[in-house]
Amino acid sequence: MSGAKHTIDKYHDSTKVTLSGRNPEENFGIVNPPVYHASTILYPDVAALETRNQKYSYGRRGTPTIDALENAITELGGGYGTRLAPSGMAAISTAILSFVEAGDHILVTDSVYSPTRIFCDSVLKRLGVETEYYDPLAGAAIGEKLRPGTRLVFTESPGSQTFEIQDIPAISKVAAEHGVLVFTDNTWASPLYFKAFEHGVDVSIQAATKYIVGHSDVMMGSITTNEACWKQLYDSHGAMGQTAGPDDIFLALRGLRSLDVRLERHMNNAIEIARWLEARPEVAKLLHPALPSHPGHDLWKRDFSGASGLFSLILNPCSKPARDAFLNALQLFGMGYSWGGFESLVIPFDPATYRTATAWRERGHALRFHIGLEAVEDLVDDLANAFAKMAQA
Ligand SMILES: *Cc1c(COP(=O)(O)O)cnc(C)c1O
Repeated sequence: MSGAKHTIDKYHDSTKVTLSGRNPEENFGIVNPPVYHASTILYPDVAALETRNQKYSYGRRGTPTIDALENAITELGGGYGTRLAPSGMAAISTAILSFVEAGDHILVTDSVYSPTRIFCDSVLKRLGVETEYYDPLAGAAIGEKLRPGTRLVFTESPGSQTFEIQDIPAISKVAAEHGVLVFTDNTWASPLYFKAFEHGVDVSIQAATKYIVGHSDVMMGSITTNEACWKQLYDSHGAMGQTAGPDDIFLALRGLRSLDVRLERHMNNAIEIARWLEARPEVAKLLHPALPSHPGHDLWKRDFSGASGLFSLILNPCSKPARDAFLNALQLFGMGYSWGGFESLVIPFDPATYRTATAWRERGHALRFHIGLEAVEDLVDDLANAFAKMAQA
């Protein structure tokens, strides 16, 4: 349950992912923690029942299995404590709802994950919370947008389609001066490559569905807060009935053990392929923060310790049939709305259809790639073949 003391703080992340959230000494020497399937938890007598005076009170509120993943995420990403949710979107909605009330104003980056925007524009709006979208590149200028009723600034860096790197330290500094909280959707970097709390963030969210689970087979979310925000998050998360299932947690813990090695391969494969794509005549622009050509490259180098496997590109203007011929010709890139698993993916997208605070001026079609763990040579051959099919279309 979090708020635990961090005895493994002295180790590097690659060691931490192997140690976090397990304790064989308390488990008959068995390496992995047991998977507790629990709803009812019994109390020994009336006094204990009436005071709920024991470590675990009810399956929804916590079990050793839930503790294991929550503790591991806190140990890896920093912060004071973590609570789980059944999806990344549930983590986002629970985190925001835990801190806002009617009449509040919140600032959300214009590069935010589209379902987060839908949540703000529907549920929050109905509850009387006003969402204002801001330029992801605002940095310290976010101060000009703060009002007396501003409760929080929601960041996502980089944006998971358009890849703007936000100056989160600058945003956090201004926000803190005004008593405004900073949230971040840290799914792209994972708890390993961006240490949100060291950069002034108050609440950090993971769609664990992506890299923590890593195998495209489980939905899971997590919310980690600093100490000041912990009680409010903890109580509201409980009041809203959020939890996650034991078998899904087991799979997330299994995924977590290889997070470091998987991410390194995703990063290296993706950088190699992004460089290859950048040199292609069909490509107008790469949107990958680890490439020196990216406008956010210096901020990325300053604040992040790595890049994951997700990036986008803008094609030189071409017909939709040509774009579609390219997509349909790909054999190793599946088409689907997710990422973070072991396999490569691609989707077309159009930011002009959802942006409201900033204009999208690119003329060519936009494609987002997730680079999996396959051999780079095979992926490059696949892409080259698809470009050939595009030329024929
Ligand atoms: C996928 C995703 C989410 C939502 O996670 P789900 O588990 O699919 O609900 C949130 N933020 C980002 C950046 C994502 O890519």
